[in-house]
Amino acid sequence: AIPLVVAINTSLAARNGMLVRDRIAMEEARNLDAIIFDKTGTLTEGEHGVVDMATVEGVEEDDALALAAAVESDSEHMIARAIREAADEQDLTAPDATDFEAIKGRGVRANVDGKEVYVGGPNLLTQLDSEIPDHLQRFADEAGQNAQTVVYLVRDGELIAAFAMADVIREESFRVVDALHDLGIEVAMLTGDSQDVANAVADELGIDTVFAEVLPEDKDEKVQELQDQGKLVGMVGDGVNDAPALTRADVGIAIGSGTDVAVQSADVILVQNNPMDVVRLVKLSKASYRKMQ
Ligand code: ADP
Ligand code: MG
Repeated sequence: AIPLVVAINTSLAARNGMLVRDRIAMEEARNLDAIIFDKTGTLTEGEHGVVDMATVEGVEEDDALALAAAVESDSEHMIARAIREAADEQDLTAPDATDFEAIKGRGVRANVDGKEVYVGGPNLLTQLDSEIPDHLQRFADEAGQNAQTVVYLVRDGELIAAFAMADVIREESFRVVDALHDLGIEVAMLTGDSQDVANAVADELGIDTVFAEVLPEDKDEKVQELQDQGKLVGMVGDGVNDAPALTRADVGIAIGSGTDVAVQSADVILVQNNPMDVVRLVKLSKASYRKMQ
């Protein structure tokens, strides 16, 4: 039989916008040593705007932006949306693209005018073994220090442009980190974004542990890494990419609208897209445990 207190507790949770899929995990939340947050869209708004760009000699900015928009025309990613919007704002017409391919955690690829064109982040450059021209490297370094995400445009193996995009930290995130620290919980951040951007966001929020440039298939290993240190680990995320990490975590928490996959992999679903609910969850778990004793 389900202990009465826990049953009451789950309906209390539901009234607070928390759907408990696994009651054991809900109870375990009181003992969490560390909580890992997905960065984009969880700690940040996840709304990128293109704020700056740079190209190599001989490539016009408008042409580079239109080409990038063409390659991104089939992608739902927030980065793709931002690039298409930037091209729209400049009244640019994207050339026709075919053979779209999404490269998970790295970027996108398409064929444009018989050329193979990629748009993606640092993980993509590693995969393509692309060299970054000096001035684009400087552009990327500066953007990174300003917590701006950089994506690159690669045409027929040559890196021809870089775009800097700004995201903003959610106001609630500051309170979340402070409140978790008050509860003695280590706060970690997990992202596919660059180390620079991750560090800048972590510094601002006072986050203890940073995992950056992590490929989707490696995200769950970072959860394991903390578990191997003997810690009970919670994971908060919303994306398809976060599903294995949510499953691996002792308490997997899907937040906001969340993708179906994330929701199915989570123990607790926070219906409102408010990271402060993570703190409420831990407190609710602690309160009900005290009652049970
Ligand atoms: P996160 O871990 O922040 O949720 P993702 O796993 O979705 O990020 O993506 C990781 C990185 O892969 C992004 O920061 C970006 O560099 C690159 N990327 C993914 N999708 C795209 C896209 N459609 N266009 C450009 N870059 C992309
Ligand atoms: Mg994400």
